[in-house]
Amino acid sequence: MVSRTSAIRIGLVFPDLLGTYGDRGNALVLEQRCIRRGIDAEIVDIAAGTALPDSLDVYLLGGGEDDAQVMASAGLRASRAAIDRALGNGAVILAVCAGFQLLGGSYEARDGEVLDGLGLCDLDTRAGDARCIGELIVSPDASLGLPTLTGFENHGGRTRLGSGVSPLGTVEVGHGNGSGNGAGNSAGNSAGDEGLAVDGILATRVVGTYLHGPVLPRNPALADLLLGWVLGEDALTSLEDPVIDALRRERLHEARKTGLSAKRRDWDLARG
Ligand code: GLN
Repeated sequence: MVSRTSAIRIGLVFPDLLGTYGDRGNALVLEQRCIRRGIDAEIVDIAAGTALPDSLDVYLLGGGEDDAQVMASAGLRASRAAIDRALGNGAVILAVCAGFQLLGGSYEARDGEVLDGLGLCDLDTRAGDARCIGELIVSPDASLGLPTLTGFENHGGRTRLGSGVSPLGTVEVGHGNGSGNGAGNSAGNSAGDEGLAVDGILATRVVGTYLHGPVLPRNPALADLLLGWVLGEDALTSLEDPVIDALRRERLHEARKTGLSAKRRDWDLARG
């Protein structure tokens, strides 16, 4: 265990811009899972227009509409050096949807405007024809040892990962990084016609995903993965989450049912 003399500091980045989908819930879950284990934790709100400090342990970037995303991208780029320093010091990033898209080189909004992202990860996002909306189930990369991830998605962008970049996992139900538009990485982990659809990105102490929910209340194991990266796995005594376990079962069941009927509908349409 990494011994700490200070509280774990959980940064909620621009919640006024990147908080459309209840993303504060991710910060609350991290904080509560620390407190339940007797580990001090505090949430640090970083208001839009404020420079990001380099001293936080976790940086949470949430989802947002296109206009908010344009504003957030400028603020993030202005703080790129601080983010680099924080990552160098062992900080962790969880970026969801708009936040995930902004980790990349560029994002194309629905109106065709292309804005620069942080350029932290080798990925780019283009506008798709239709929005991807609905339940999303992701089988996480086996190296993570996590159970199936559940959430919902609501985005217009399709994200292409650079070659050699790993996704967070493969899509069981839903769209994730994109579908049917050739999006996907050149390693064949594509979300296009030729290969498995994938979601998000997995890099050193960085997770990006299209999973809303918010994602951490629905997937406490993912919350513990992030905390383990900060605190060391030994710091994480196991916690009982019966209510969440029941919610997960119900959501996975519903999403699989919906996913199956959507597939049947597509087959029927394809057959005429
Ligand atoms: N504006 C982005 C898109 O539509 C992100 C949406 C979101 O964060 N849910 O792709």
